[in-house]
Amino acid sequence: PPDVEVLGRSSWTLLHSIAATYPERPSRGQQSDLLSFVKLFSKLYPCWVCAEDFQTYMGREAPRVGSRGEFGMWLCGAHNEVNRKLSKPEFDCSKWEERWRTGWKD
Ligand code: FAD
Repeated sequence: PPDVEVLGRSSWTLLHSIAATYPERPSRGQQSDLLSFVKLFSKLYPCWVCAEDFQTYMGREAPRVGSRGEFGMWLCGAHNEVNRKLSKPEFDCSKWEERWRTGWKD
């Protein structure tokens, strides 16, 4: 399997990109699809300790899928939880769209 860092970087890219393209006003169906996706993702994520902690986090902080803004902020919080665990700097969540949707270079 790929190493945990390569897997993590590409997975966050996928997740934040899904947030960035999620509608501002999702239908019921889109909301339930995203919720199912995130739940299944957290079960299938191929780093088992990561998956376990992510599921625990989701038990405390239920995924918010009511709009792009809501989901983007929820995901940013989830990512910051992992940042804290790994002693990485916290990301300023007011900048998530600039980073992942309207774009800056990194
Ligand atoms: P990453 O954390 O991969 O971030 C990539 C880019 O995202 C950053 O350069 C920054 O521009 C941006 N970013 C950073 N924070 C945020 C934020 N809060 N919101 C929006 N954008 C942000 N690794 C472990 O060792 N143990 C674990 O338990 C673990 N659990 C994980 C759980 C999940 C669900 C995922 C997806 C990954 C997990 N990882 C875990 C991997 C870890 O989070 C990192 O991806 C990996 O350490 C590489 O880090 P990085 O410094 O390249 O940046």
